[in-house]
Amino acid sequence: MAKMSWAAGTQCVAKGDHKKPKPGELLYRKGDILTIVDTTTKKGCYRARHNTTGEEGIINATNVREREALRVDPSLSLMPWFHGKISGPEAVSKLQPAEDGLFLVRESIRHPGDYVLCVSISGEVIHYRVIYQDNKLTIDKTQYFYNLIDMIEFYSKNKGSIATTLLKPKQKQGTKSAELELSKSGWLLDIEKLTLGENIGEGEFGAVYEGVYMGQRVAVKTIKCDVTAQAFLQETTVMTKLQHKNLVRLLGVILHKGLHIVTELMTKGNLVNFLRTRGRSVVNSVQLLRFSLDVCEGMDYLESKKLVHRDLAARNVLISDDNVAKVSDFGLTKVDSKVSDKAKLPVKWTAPEALKKEKFSTKSDVWSYGILLWEIFSYGRQPYPKMHVEKNLLSELVQYRKLQRANRQIVKGRN
Ligand code: ADP
Repeated sequence: MAKMSWAAGTQCVAKGDHKKPKPGELLYRKGDILTIVDTTTKKGCYRARHNTTGEEGIINATNVREREALRVDPSLSLMPWFHGKISGPEAVSKLQPAEDGLFLVRESIRHPGDYVLCVSISGEVIHYRVIYQDNKLTIDKTQYFYNLIDMIEFYSKNKGSIATTLLKPKQKQGTKSAELELSKSGWLLDIEKLTLGENIGEGEFGAVYEGVYMGQRVAVKTIKCDVTAQAFLQETTVMTKLQHKNLVRLLGVILHKGLHIVTELMTKGNLVNFLRTRGRSVVNSVQLLRFSLDVCEGMDYLESKKLVHRDLAARNVLISDDNVAKVSDFGLTKVDSKVSDKAKLPVKWTAPEALKKEKFSTKSDVWSYGILLWEIFSYGRQPYPKMHVEKNLLSELVQYRKLQRANRQIVKGRN
């Protein structure tokens, strides 16, 4: 029996062709992605919009399945054609049997750090040295690129000054093309359907823009550095598994000059700014409590999925147009609980055992939630305002707490 709980906005994949629609029905082919727009139609049916044609019509729920989550898979690569450090002759042997337009990118052994694009044409392999100049990459000093992904995208569409357009990537053994997997599972969106608007935020790794994707207002996080994009791919695969009213929803990704992560637009921005710019006169305590509960439900759901957030803080909670708080930024979210980069830890939000022993758990998320509550009810103040984060912060924290306790004792003593 068809699952009847799909909400508007749910993305579905067609299980088969529906080429001869009756009046009012939607035409689609196997593998097409459809968005549910109305759930109040007759039983077993939905009104849906076709993600490619933009047409709307009725679909039978049994003919489609909900878009599946991607499995978190370290072999998933945005650059499956990148073979790392291999020699010229090795590259040549990898590009056999010869085929026009078959290509790979390698790192030069003689000039470490330099890249080489190797392309097969007329039975030969041509090696193009990629030059790094003014923070950009170029082969011919005419076309410049932000990164290798950008470069390969360009030469896959244009011949430019190289011998042939790139037709077929020679995949490195053990990697899977992220593009292919995202596309098969229905998470790859089309850049042509996106209209980018204003810049609405700066993240640590790239700018966030407002935009419209097929009539829906969206936020687009752009990541230009290829290495970072690869790391964010993992964040994105985690997000494909999560659907909850208090988690910012992933709509899909676009691969263009790097990675674009498309999520629902949270028009009122992040919770810290929301509280700071409005203050007590505008936001009452009932609303504060509602935000607290919203975050709590989102985090409860994360726990139910056995996920640890690691970076819960008011700056990572976003507010929707109708004042619903949703947890965002799953950048550090991991199924396992080891983190390697201690320097990046948000110290004031991180539980002592997580700081000391890198022991992250739902319990350490609860600690961060405590700090978050303090942020909410202080209307967005910086926690431990008098403390500066330094290396030996832990001992400072302990001292600070002792001081606070001592203060309370003094106050108590007076009363
Ligand atoms: P960071 O990398 O610092 O964790 P993000 O890149 O996630 O931050 O976002 C930076 C800022 O962009 C946020 O603080 C917020 O103001 C804005 N932003 C991010 N995602 C959205 C969204 N879905 N809707 C609206 N604004 C957003």
